[in-house]
Amino acid sequence: MSSTTKESLTEATFASFNLSDGTQRAITEVMGYTNCTSVQAETLPATLRGMDVVVKAKTGTGKTLAFLIPGIERMLKEPAGRGKVAMLVISPTRELAAQIAEEAKQLVRHHKLGVQVMFGGTNMNKDINDLQRRAPDVLVATPGRLLDHLQNTETLRPLLSNLRMLVLDEADRLLDMGFRQEIEKLTRMLPPKDGRQNMLFSATYPSNIRELSKIALRPEYQLVDTVGDEDTHAAETVRWKINQTNTIAQRWCSRII
Ligand code: ADP
Ligand code: MG
Repeated sequence: MSSTTKESLTEATFASFNLSDGTQRAITEVMGYTNCTSVQAETLPATLRGMDVVVKAKTGTGKTLAFLIPGIERMLKEPAGRGKVAMLVISPTRELAAQIAEEAKQLVRHHKLGVQVMFGGTNMNKDINDLQRRAPDVLVATPGRLLDHLQNTETLRPLLSNLRMLVLDEADRLLDMGFRQEIEKLTRMLPPKDGRQNMLFSATYPSNIRELSKIALRPEYQLVDTVGDEDTHAAETVRWKINQTNTIAQRWCSRII
């Protein structure tokens, strides 16, 4: 376990969240985890209740499980139906997409759920064959390949009609890599966002992420900030400005008096 992951562990246990037996067993037996990291402990209460969240958290703090667990739990309670994708995870790079899919496969070990990953640089017909053989319950994809399928092939789009959960992972990287238009187009091609749960994960929370949150999430989303630097910084700036103003006001008053 990396030192970042170790440092972010909390007292909260996965067992305290009343997860389904299959998910709990996978976490304990397949992954070997007992305690939640802070991002998991702080988001699971909201996400397991079905709320949309924007989550600001550092790399290596366990964001993958923070979105996979509520995604799996939701599709067990509210299945998308035979031949439909229940959860779509959009990830900026092939490597990250592949890692997320591996973790999802571990998490569904005791469930009858399928996971598929797709990204550019591979044969699109192979994606299509896999989709046709069995629509995955969890689909992890890079934005370019996803859009390519939605715009240029016929197979994927109808499979997304009952989507229960959309995740934008590493949203700041998605934007840094110039995927904003793709994400906007993608969200327009999916069924309306109020019919599903939406989550956005990012290491930073600048204004372009706030804009993206408005596009991809339902309006009443909750912001979970496990970093807090920017807010502290913002609070300090405000305090500094107030002090400045007070000093100027005091000088003014003393001059008048
Ligand atoms: P992030 O997406 O925040 O960068 P990851 O989800 O990739 O982080 O997790 C980083 C590492 O920590 C992974 O190896 C993951 O399996 C591990 N991990 C995640 N949650 C826990 C946990 N609760 N206890 C121990 N290790 C964990
Ligand atoms: Mg991650």
